[in-house]
Amino acid sequence: MLLEIEQALERINAVCDSLPAQTLPASNALHCILAEHVYSDIDSPPHDKSIVDGYALRAEDCTTVPTVLKILEEITAGQVPTLTVTSGTATRIMTGAPIPNGTNAVVMVEKTELPNEQEIAIHEVAPRVGQNIMRKGTSLQCGQLVLETGKQLRSIELGLLAEIGRVNVQVIPQPRVAVLATGNELVEAQNKPGAGEIRNSNSPLLCGLVQAAGGVAIDLGIGRDNVAHLQSLCAAGLRENVLVISGGVSAGVLDLIPHVLTDLGVQCVFHKVNLKPGKPLWFGKLTTPQHECIVFGLPGNPVSSLVCFELFVRPVLQKLAGKSFCGMQMCHATLTTEFVYRGGRRTLHPAKFNSETKQVTPLTWRGSGDLFTLTHANAFIEFQGDARTLTCGQQVNIYLF
Ligand code: AMP
Ligand code: MG
Repeated sequence: MLLEIEQALERINAVCDSLPAQTLPASNALHCILAEHVYSDIDSPPHDKSIVDGYALRAEDCTTVPTVLKILEEITAGQVPTLTVTSGTATRIMTGAPIPNGTNAVVMVEKTELPNEQEIAIHEVAPRVGQNIMRKGTSLQCGQLVLETGKQLRSIELGLLAEIGRVNVQVIPQPRVAVLATGNELVEAQNKPGAGEIRNSNSPLLCGLVQAAGGVAIDLGIGRDNVAHLQSLCAAGLRENVLVISGGVSAGVLDLIPHVLTDLGVQCVFHKVNLKPGKPLWFGKLTTPQHECIVFGLPGNPVSSLVCFELFVRPVLQKLAGKSFCGMQMCHATLTTEFVYRGGRRTLHPAKFNSETKQVTPLTWRGSGDLFTLTHANAFIEFQGDARTLTCGQQVNIYLF
């Protein structure tokens, strides 16, 4: 009996765990999950500051319109006031500069007029005490808990970490994923394929999927279908957190990957799932006292690799990164056309989903080697069981990607 998708996911989930926390420069921690509580080392703002360009003064001085005050000095952001403001005087102040002693309000420059270089005429009636002043510590206080363990770091949090002086943070690191394409027929994209050869689509496809899923891709290039070559490349890949291999896991005479992996000590968890495309999927784990590596052998056809990645690899990368193990997003949609499904196995068929109308259109697809059709796809329609004709308007399950 072949495993169903859900059973395969359960077995995968059961053997993978969040990676151990590491201290990283905050600049390398975007999207990572925080693995410590973070506290502020300062009050923010660190001083009472002006939030406008204008004049710091005593609100009680402004009894008439205009009130003319003597300008004591000018303070820009980064400077410190040197003079105390007394009755009948004011300090010209710029946004962000510390509030001078003796003042309790700032009038914005737009509400003033300069009769001469020494004086300022204030045209605001009865300024409110405290207006245009941000008090020390109103945003954050020294010692305050500002970010909690488990929080995902966005750009906002990176800015905040800088504000409180944190250049290094403890996070769950991004999983490192080795990508190995296999096949004697493969040539790299810059080469013209000779007789019997094709270009290697899977390395760029899988490296891109790894990056989009929040992993760091390590491209091991092409492995030839001989045991020695595959063994040395797989051994290199097993030093990372995850090894994703494409090709060589089916029933052909040169499908050597399962044998090579078990020889290297990788424990097979399952081989084959009830899925089209993607049936030959191989999954296992290497466990040594020092290191663990999750291993996927994906079938070589590019669309099979894509389907298996989206269904099974992406949730692993999320879990390793400290997030939840979450499969592909599923929903219901309405078929826009009749569709004849020639089934047997549970099938994911490329389709175009319209999220506004909730309608889905199956694409004319030539099978798992047809990556071109996938350029128009954003979903897979799920077909179950035996061949049948689905009618226009019928509800189907779809997986979004
Ligand atoms: P395999 O799983 O090795 O039997 O390969 C199945 C099919 O996928 C064959 O037609 C291969 O030529 C093709 N294939 C395998 N690897 C790649 C790759 N990296 N890029 C494009 N096609 C591939
Ligand atoms: Mg092959």
